[in-house]
Amino acid sequence: MNYISTRGNASNLDFAGVTLAGLASDGGLYVPSTWPRFSTEQIAAMRGLTYVELAARVMAPFTAGVLSEDELKLLCAAAYGSFSHAAITPLTQLDDQNWLLELFHGPTLAFKDVALQLLGHLFERFLSGGNTALTIVGATSGDTGSAAIHAVAGRENIEIFMLHPHNRVSDVQRRQMTTVLAPNVHNIAIDGSFDDAQAMVKRMFGDAEVTQALTLSAVNSINWARLMAQVVYYFRAALHLGAPERQVAFSVPTGNFGDVFAGYVAAQMGLPIERLIVATNVNDILHRALSKGDYSIGAVTPTAAPSMDIQVSSNFERLLFDLEGRDGSTTAARMKWFEQMGKMVLSSDMRRKAALFHSARADADEMAGAMRWAHEQCNEVIDPHTAIALHAARKANVAADIPVVTLATAHPAKFRDAVERATGLRPALPHRIGNLFDREERFDVRPGDYAAVRDYVLGHAARA
Ligand SMILES: *Cc1c(COP(=O)(O)O)cnc(C)c1O
Repeated sequence: MNYISTRGNASNLDFAGVTLAGLASDGGLYVPSTWPRFSTEQIAAMRGLTYVELAARVMAPFTAGVLSEDELKLLCAAAYGSFSHAAITPLTQLDDQNWLLELFHGPTLAFKDVALQLLGHLFERFLSGGNTALTIVGATSGDTGSAAIHAVAGRENIEIFMLHPHNRVSDVQRRQMTTVLAPNVHNIAIDGSFDDAQAMVKRMFGDAEVTQALTLSAVNSINWARLMAQVVYYFRAALHLGAPERQVAFSVPTGNFGDVFAGYVAAQMGLPIERLIVATNVNDILHRALSKGDYSIGAVTPTAAPSMDIQVSSNFERLLFDLEGRDGSTTAARMKWFEQMGKMVLSSDMRRKAALFHSARADADEMAGAMRWAHEQCNEVIDPHTAIALHAARKANVAADIPVVTLATAHPAKFRDAVERATGLRPALPHRIGNLFDREERFDVRPGDYAAVRDYVLGHAARA
């Protein structure tokens, strides 16, 4: 499989290249040159596979020429061995129509482990034997950072720098990052928002002084391999609920548009998805874009679901590329305009092509209401991000014979203050997280100033 940039002006890469590269040199994002498609018979034949077998089957078309299905199986077995549930991503039934897809059984209790545990193994595989040292620079609103750090801590030839907005991630999220004391892990707390941190990371990728000195790589969801790993659990859930004979709808708590874009990829590959509900909190740029065509940046409002406190959703560019007929120069012009003006309009033609996506927005009361409903009616304690998607799922008016799967993206203990406020219940940290609050923390606070952060990275990175 060959990968092309959404802005049409970077060299094509194979799967290994795209895994190590992250952002394309023209500022675009890499996507497969075509969407592979499974027949109905091929999808039916996936029933009964284990998670690891299914993962290798679904991902093999994307790694063709670089990794075989058998090689993928070995990597997936290693990656998902760190999960605490035998099903890896189990389904829980809430009522006659609604289901939860539990994606939080990995080492850091958030769905990002599903992709990042695999990415850690892919990095190791592609760096072994070579003389490249990889410098990973990322920005996190909480969950990406800890999952990425756990995926690469202690691995050779990798140095990781993780920027998070100072005092804007939960104490559990921060400690999951800052208590990893491996010498290749560098946590930087930035005075500013997640978007400020992400803008610095983007700028570093375009800064010749940095890119000439270091081999940079990304672990945020602009990395194609992450999205690819997330496609698997859409197949898993839909197969359990009757696909390919039966359609399934998904409701996805959305921030950077990575997780829900993986659902779109699953649909392109032939999975019968009835709709994808993009659920946002009050930071609702995606809801405005999909419902009214208005993709314009507003101020970021901090909420109890911080991983969704995002205005600019990087992966949306991948969808725009498809909606505009996969023409890189059109997407490049559109994104240049957006970067200057802070807004763009989606034409009615583009919105028609995006009809698989529905959207909804939940405010703080609606989020709390969904947490209470799950607790009181279904005896399930859910986290704030999941609650936003469950609220959207229950409002969506999906036909009664179509199951609606809400992606449960974080363990409730990760956001226990918000859960306690809504339900009166304080979820305990699972045993495997252990003594998080007794461990030593290590991080540096830096002003929201690009040069200071760049110099820090240049000063601490390994070179080879
Ligand atoms: C990252 C994250 C999200 C948002 O996912 P995107 O792929 O960025 O849209 C939602 N919920 C939780 C708990 C997350 O960590």
